[in-house]
Amino acid sequence: ERNDGANLANSAPGSLPRFRESDWDDNIGYFIKKKLRVWCRLRNRQWELGQIQSTMGEKASVLLSDGSVLSVPIGELLPANPDILEGVDDLIQLSYLNEPSVLHNLQYRFSRDIVYSKAGPVLIAINPFKNVQLYGDDSITAYRQNLVDSPHVYTIADTAYNEMMRDEVNQSIIISGESGAGKTETAKIAMQYLAALGGGSSGIECEVLQTSCILEAFGNAKTSRNDNSSRFGKLIEIHFSAVGKICGAEIQTYLLEKSRVVQLARGERSYHIFYQLCAGAPPSLRERLKLKEAKEYNYLNQSGCLAIHDVVDAHKFESLKEAFNTLRIHKESQEQIFAMLAAVLWLGNISFQVIDNENHIEVVDNEAVTNAASLIGCNAQDLMVTLSTRKIQAGKDSVAKRLALQQAIDTRDALAKFIYSSLFDWLVDEINHSLAMGKHRTGRSISILDIYGFESFKKNSFEQLCINYANERLQQHFNRHLFKLEQEEYELDGIDWTKVEFEDNHECLNLFEKPIGLISLLDEESNFPKATDLTLADKLKQHLDTNPCFKGERGGAFIIHHYAGEVLYDTNGFLEKNRDPIHSDTIQLLASCSGHLSKLFASSVLNVLPKTASPLEQSGALGSQKQSVGTKFKGQLFKLMQQLENTTPHFIRCIKPNNKQLPGIYDKDLVLDQLRCCGVLEVVRISRSGYPTRITHQDFSRRYGFLLLEDSESQDPLSSSVAILQQFGVLPEMYQVGYTKLFFRAGQIGALEDTRKQVL
Ligand code: ADP
Ligand code: MG
Repeated sequence: ERNDGANLANSAPGSLPRFRESDWDDNIGYFIKKKLRVWCRLRNRQWELGQIQSTMGEKASVLLSDGSVLSVPIGELLPANPDILEGVDDLIQLSYLNEPSVLHNLQYRFSRDIVYSKAGPVLIAINPFKNVQLYGDDSITAYRQNLVDSPHVYTIADTAYNEMMRDEVNQSIIISGESGAGKTETAKIAMQYLAALGGGSSGIECEVLQTSCILEAFGNAKTSRNDNSSRFGKLIEIHFSAVGKICGAEIQTYLLEKSRVVQLARGERSYHIFYQLCAGAPPSLRERLKLKEAKEYNYLNQSGCLAIHDVVDAHKFESLKEAFNTLRIHKESQEQIFAMLAAVLWLGNISFQVIDNENHIEVVDNEAVTNAASLIGCNAQDLMVTLSTRKIQAGKDSVAKRLALQQAIDTRDALAKFIYSSLFDWLVDEINHSLAMGKHRTGRSISILDIYGFESFKKNSFEQLCINYANERLQQHFNRHLFKLEQEEYELDGIDWTKVEFEDNHECLNLFEKPIGLISLLDEESNFPKATDLTLADKLKQHLDTNPCFKGERGGAFIIHHYAGEVLYDTNGFLEKNRDPIHSDTIQLLASCSGHLSKLFASSVLNVLPKTASPLEQSGALGSQKQSVGTKFKGQLFKLMQQLENTTPHFIRCIKPNNKQLPGIYDKDLVLDQLRCCGVLEVVRISRSGYPTRITHQDFSRRYGFLLLEDSESQDPLSSSVAILQQFGVLPEMYQVGYTKLFFRAGQIGALEDTRKQVL
């Protein structure tokens, strides 16, 4: 029986066939006729594998694997892949790339502890939440010697290394995924492989590996979604010598979550380092820092969570000190770091007493003030004045105005956040300083980016806006790269690639970056003293409503149509977060510090001080003079993108299989959501809109040649391939004949496979 082309999309001759989700309706007719395996969506929206028994009108009766027969609307059926494609390494090998097929393939592998798969050029890593036998020296050796070729982080790192050595082109490994998906672990696995490859006698590879320990102590915390959640983005650029040995590295960090220092959600913790210090500091250090237990500090005890299951903070403190030593952070510097941390903790214990009926306060003079001041290196009296009053310019004179309770708390917390974030920045500088030896930009570097993926919660705020903006940029980078790869392959084989459509997200980027875009409007409003979050929302609606990616909502809300879906943002708190104000009185206090801590602040203090005026002439919050958080982030992002543009990228998408941080559970809806958000379904779609199936003329004629009526033995592979295509009536727009390969639209091979099976 000749298939009548029912498996092929109906497209008017000459027009461009467009493959979208809906085109599968056309395919399903063929499946029904042949009673093949299908996916059927049940009432609970879950997809189940079944076999069509018969059809009646718009319904089909389907035999499920448990033996039951169900009547399912034909619209709820999708073609399933033939058995031989069960659990393939690369999703693109699937004949049918619909969502249930993709999900099933990944689950099939996951349940066998194969956590890595590919989607074309992208590596998909599903977090096993348990130890899997995939890592370690033996495994590294096996991958180095090409004894195994199943998808792995090691393969990605190996490819990057080899391309770097061969072409002298910088490489990048871009890791994304949502919180708890395994990005940071994946980055470490990649670094371990590179350290094994590029390790030498200098031992610098150990230093590079030890940076993780330090950065995690200061930048990671327990959240509701991940016991070791990174609260910053990170790019580590590893430099190699001409002979391929690691010779230096440089770290760049993005958007540390400062608010965590002073405010915690129930069940979460502040940065690990605080608990490590409180639990692990030896008696003499405790004495010098006037240190108490974690539970004594307000900044730590407010969330009702002081410990992490299976983690001993005191042990971690020992490892941290070792890491400090490995990275040659001097003992005095270490002491200074610990003093700063203790200062932050003591600041949190400073309390205020309301002294009048206007809610004005004075600072309670207790050990918290004394200890904080002595650790910071300032006079206790000065600290109390700074926390309880504000200097206001009145003509030529400045007068001190007493603060109200909330203002005083905000001032205190701003100081704590400022100290902590300055400490973090300073620490990254120190690490970079240690790793900078022998660094030269030779076109031999591999950068690993571990950055928060696209986020969409019930409530989305300024942080999500920044994160999702970064992800739009990364997505654009990703699309361009994919496009380039495809184009290269088509051109190499003489294929007309103009018939392939690619999506892009420039409208959404415009929304953020245009001169009158989100970021500039946000800045404008942040500089306007009377502005509120609601006036901001109005302004956005007024100026951005013409952009197709923007939709104003009621109240202070708006929707952005991101590549990964729509996100509803609430402007509540936007202005304050964008301004991130620190008062000039506070800066003056820090600038006046005599102690050893002043040098740690020096660069941070200089950064926020206006260039022209002297500190003494300043009054009011510095929020308006210093760069806003949004603009600073945009600048960092541009620098990052520029850096990535000069590299050959490799992409890893991490997927969290469940929200419980538990092994063995594969929540299909959750996985599907992430596949969508991290662009994996987009890769699949892009491949589907092009010619995803590629087979050499030889392979094709060998596999299907016997189906030809005439003897094909005598023909060359190219001619017999064309003869097969004609005999089976594959429409011309469904394939292209390249110099070495046939290029097929998605799903075409599936139909040929079925015919082949029936003949055999
Ligand atoms: P992310 O950085 O994406 O937020 P992490 O890399 O911190 O996520 O991973 C969260 C947790 O998941 C880790 O602490 C670890 O317990 C587990 N995990 C992640 N990747 C792996 C892996 N490859 N093997 C075993 N466990 C892993
Ligand atoms: Mg992380």
